Amino acid sequence: MRRRLVAGNWKMHGSRAVNLALLSSLKRSIVPIDGLGVAVCAPFPYLSQVADSLRGSSLVWGAQDLSEHDVGPYTGEVSGPMLADFGCAYVLVGHSERRVLHGETDRQIAAKFGAAQRAGLIPVLCVGETLEQRDGGEMQAVLRRQVDAVLKASGVAAFRRAVVAYEPVWAIGTGRTATPAQAQAAHLHLRSLVAAQDAGLAAELTIVYGGSVKPGNAKEIFSMPDVDGGLIGGASLVAEDFTAICSAAAAAQKQE
Ligand code: PEP
Repeated sequence: MRRRLVAGNWKMHGSRAVNLALLSSLKRSIVPIDGLGVAVCAPFPYLSQVADSLRGSSLVWGAQDLSEHDVGPYTGEVSGPMLADFGCAYVLVGHSERRVLHGETDRQIAAKFGAAQRAGLIPVLCVGETLEQRDGGEMQAVLRRQVDAVLKASGVAAFRRAVVAYEPVWAIGTGRTATPAQAQAAHLHLRSLVAAQDAGLAAELTIVYGGSVKPGNAKEIFSMPDVDGGLIGGASLVAEDFTAICSAAAAAQKQE
């Protein structure tokens, strides 16, 4: 059975007090389930607070970005080894907000993916098309280009310790979710891109969906055969919502 993951992406939200309340609540309400990982990805200044708070719990934590370099004169950057030093498990790579707002290219994202793995972190490679690209019939080609950049730089074996997140740009923070069928089609395509090089590895690859997942739509999206959990933005800031989404992933796991 494939491992499932629900990861919260807090984006640039939080304060010490708000995080404390949220993490305390999550630790109380999220029940550990075999085969289902639950992670929160917080802004850099709060990672140490999150690490301390989650120590000894079933939840793990991740970062939202990292440098493609391991050390050196890169003012303002945070490296993979620094994150690993604090016990970081996951790191988002190529989130659409980084691609669009910070101009991150496929090449840079592939380099960040490699940097994460060098440091022993699990990269969550975010891919997805814009609305214009979807309407232009380019969804498959865009996903292929984004995945190929990483396959070319790191090789297919690198996907053995990685997660892919399908995040259609038009569904992130918009309240507009991909239908379960749209998500399934994209996930199947992503799996087939990896399967073309290693079918066994592709069958084991965790591919999560992100884009306006809420307690009300999580169950049907997570029940799709190639959807292995979610990357959750807005709803991960509300303890009851994130807990309900984790429960939906656990229920989908049991149905398999
Ligand atoms: C995200 O930030 O990765 C995301 C999916 O956001 P939201 O759930 O708010 O659409």
